[in-house]
Amino acid sequence: MAELRAAGQSVGFVPTMGALHAGHCSLIDAARAECDAVVVSIFVNPTQFAPTEDLSQYPRPIEADLAACAECDVAVVFTPTPDEMYTDGAGGGLTTIAVAQLGEGLCGRSRPTHFDGVCTVVAKLLNLVGPDVLYLGQKDFQQAAILKRMVADLDFPVRVNVCPIVREASGLALSSRNVYLDEEIRKKFAPKIYECLQVLAKKISDSAPSGAELRDFADSFFAECTPVFELEYLELLDAETLKPPANKGRNRVLVIAGCFGKTRLIDNVLIECD
Ligand code: AMP
Repeated sequence: MAELRAAGQSVGFVPTMGALHAGHCSLIDAARAECDAVVVSIFVNPTQFAPTEDLSQYPRPIEADLAACAECDVAVVFTPTPDEMYTDGAGGGLTTIAVAQLGEGLCGRSRPTHFDGVCTVVAKLLNLVGPDVLYLGQKDFQQAAILKRMVADLDFPVRVNVCPIVREASGLALSSRNVYLDEEIRKKFAPKIYECLQVLAKKISDSAPSGAELRDFADSFFAECTPVFELEYLELLDAETLKPPANKGRNRVLVIAGCFGKTRLIDNVLIECD
């Protein structure tokens, strides 16, 4: 990476946890289009998983991932181990970066330590890689909002580019965790998540339904998915502050999370103001 910088090449950086799919590749493609060289990290970051979560089962198809990176013309694939990444290995270090407020709602309610782990590892990766542009997916909307704020608050000399969500033909957002879903759920029920967002986005383009109204809508929309799907949240928020939308003339985002068994899926749709 030092050689790339010494050669004056602009560097686009795509941090991932591996199990690469077309969503990750779209970030790599965006980086290749804008920068001289692309750096991808593959690191299943232990500090962003709670003890009850799927750290040990998380898919790690490293050979296929390296082949995908080679095919996408990635200049450097950075694959550190927890011991290389952290002072205390899988336990992390003593320093943690926490972005207040933005991480408290949505996924932060069920995963209270998750975003601190994400921020800390991305800050470390930015220090190690020193990219010009950081590529993130809109798929993880809250994560992107938090990381943009971290970059601004801590003056990381990097531009952040948030890229659109890549979906299966069914509408299901691509995710490394989709491999946990059995065939029937993946085909028949999981696409309902995006369908719900689309139906709602059309309905509310001019209105601001209350949290209770959204819940009622979700209850009837997902009735046919009972008992396989458990909704965790469905909210309409200001796209930047992640607070309830206050003023007209600001972008809003519909965000959803829910579980099929132990598999937790998230999705969102941006509702841009005219
Ligand atoms: P992950 O490997 O899940 O940590 O994701 C690495 C990056 O890829 C994050 O910035 C994600 O938001 C992004 N990403 C994951 N899934 C998708 C998708 N379906 N479309 C676009 N970007 C994605």
